[in-house]
Amino acid sequence: MTQPLPKKQAETRAKELRELLARYSYEYHVLDEPTVSDAVYDSLFGELKKIEADYPDLVTPDSLTQRVGNELIGGFRKVQHSSRMLSLNDVFDIDEIEAWVRRMDKLLPGQTHEFFADIKMDGLACALIYEDGLFVQAITRGDSFIGEDVTANVRTIANVPLRLRNEKGFDHFLKGRTEIRGEIVMLKKDFNALNEKRRQAGEAEFANPRNLAAGTIRQLDPKLVAARPLHFRAYDLLRDEPSEVPTNMFAYEAITALGLSRNMQASVFTDLKDVMAFVAEWDKKRNDLPFNTDGLVIKVNDRALFAQLGIVGKQPRAAVAYKYAAEQATTIVKDIVISIGRTGAATPVAVFDPVVVAGTTVQHASLHNADEIARKDVRIGDTVIIFKAGDIIPQVESVVTELRPKGAKPFDYLAALKEQYPELEFERQGTDVVYRVKGQSGPLQLKRSIEYFASKGALDIDTLGEKNVAALVDAGYVSDLADIYTLTKENLLKLERFAEISASKLIDAIAAKKNPPLEKFILGLGIRHIGAQTALDLANTFESLEALEHATVEEFMQVEGIGEIVARSIAAWFGDEDNIRLLRKFETLGVAPVFKKKSGKLSGKNFVITGTLESMSRDIAADKIRSLGGGFQTSVAKDTTYLVAGGKVGESKLKKAKEYGIEIIDEKTLKEMLT
Ligand code: NAD
Repeated sequence: MTQPLPKKQAETRAKELRELLARYSYEYHVLDEPTVSDAVYDSLFGELKKIEADYPDLVTPDSLTQRVGNELIGGFRKVQHSSRMLSLNDVFDIDEIEAWVRRMDKLLPGQTHEFFADIKMDGLACALIYEDGLFVQAITRGDSFIGEDVTANVRTIANVPLRLRNEKGFDHFLKGRTEIRGEIVMLKKDFNALNEKRRQAGEAEFANPRNLAAGTIRQLDPKLVAARPLHFRAYDLLRDEPSEVPTNMFAYEAITALGLSRNMQASVFTDLKDVMAFVAEWDKKRNDLPFNTDGLVIKVNDRALFAQLGIVGKQPRAAVAYKYAAEQATTIVKDIVISIGRTGAATPVAVFDPVVVAGTTVQHASLHNADEIARKDVRIGDTVIIFKAGDIIPQVESVVTELRPKGAKPFDYLAALKEQYPELEFERQGTDVVYRVKGQSGPLQLKRSIEYFASKGALDIDTLGEKNVAALVDAGYVSDLADIYTLTKENLLKLERFAEISASKLIDAIAAKKNPPLEKFILGLGIRHIGAQTALDLANTFESLEALEHATVEEFMQVEGIGEIVARSIAAWFGDEDNIRLLRKFETLGVAPVFKKKSGKLSGKNFVITGTLESMSRDIAADKIRSLGGGFQTSVAKDTTYLVAGGKVGESKLKKAKEYGIEIIDEKTLKEMLT
């Protein structure tokens, strides 16, 4: 969950969300022509609900959170419902379902529940009234209290019986008033056939079955309704005497006996685990259903308990709508950071408030290149729609421009490149849409990055030096870092440079580095601004590549010694989809870095070396210090413990060391510490 917004900001945002949601709701419910998907609507609605929960005094009576969505559009007679036709509270995961059950347990302690679950149909709700078994009236849900009389239209629906069937055991429902509530849907096959006809006639196609069904039922001419096949599925049965319908499952049995259609999959469960299994089963099979569904309805089976639990706002406490993971969601762009790839290509990445899309939390998405940012006109502060289909990497689909903050400026890509990489120059050649680091052609940059990956400080792969790397890249065997793990002896023997022994040696050396220490692997990736110490700090803080992949700029900045530029560079690297593909490729090739927390006699102690050491190189000294848990720094800072003097120490360093109270030691003392 993201932090609550400051009050003033929350107030403005809530107002803007309310206005926009009211427009969307009008387009959906009245015009039957939605301009955004339900997932986008639900996401913005969820944001408004959160603001109102954070600041209850900001709730306004006209907020969409306070009423059932349908508006009455006129043209039909208004009819009062015998009891309210409510909407349902959405839940999105098992935690929210458990919280729902806990809330009920609090109100009715000690009660055991039977759960009733059915598939949620995506259509429009309608109540059918039968008097002494005869169909007399159909009423839309309307504003939950008052609906519209659409009897003439509903009469044209083939599977709505005009008289209830007289079945033994249920014949008393043919006496007096029986109200059957359900959903009017258009079956997918009918919708597709209608659209096919329109396509052939060169007419505009209908957007989706739900809105077509809703639009059809509100046509004033029943002949037009009859020409569009609609279908009714019941989910509720009401009698003046509620005890005649003791459970929801009984209502379903009665519905079937009386000759109406309903979902035969509806089931009763005693254990929440089984409800979740039912949810998972239908998540897989839902595309095979004849109508669209966006989830399941879960209710308390016992109707006396259901009534006792009552209503909050516009929703019954005893039921929820479980919504399947949406493939779209909205979030706010916090920053646009740029990643420099292995071939010198600059890739912009949008960093945003964490958001759940298609079941996983995401916080960054590639924006591909400057043209793409300009085309979508993504600006920092914008509310954007994030899209993710199946396993595919998240993308920024579009901007909700209505929610753009005042004063948000178009993103200046060149200025951002300059600000984030002041030391580099970029160029864009010919028709190339990508800016690249000047003077670093693809293959050259690739060779350097492989050499770096294999170098002593990083993975330390024996015999994979400059010449071998060049031969492998030139032969086309290696086009990214992970490719080195795909090399075979046969490949190598085809190259002039390799003979039996040298080929085996290299293959063995590579195989020996399939589980490198995490910090060496991070270093080897060649993320700009990440040296050995930062790689180690990152490994110690995040402990896995997966955690790094999901960390935010703010989290990176909490690591000692990491400032904003470095944090953005790391976030950009992990937000660049080419890099994520590379990490996945390493995984499939069985390359799995391991993390071991370094603790040793030097842990908590930081070293700076000045001048030249006689007995070892600075890199070796740094490695030894780190292997004993110490930190190695390139310049004196407040948290430096020892300044190692290789020869005479310069005036300014000496002064700083004194100022910070840092102990100055010689090479001999260092060597003793390292043994
Ligand atoms: P809801 O999510 O509150 O669900 C309640 C309804 O589910 C019931 O009234 C009933 O009609 C229906 N239902 C279907 N199958 C059922 C079953 N087996 N048992 C019981 N009830 C069943 O729905 P709502 O209040 O009608 O409307 C909210 C929906 O409208 C959201 O999904 C939202 O995304 C959509 N919407 C979209 C836009 C847009 O612009 N795209 C705008 C406004 C609303």
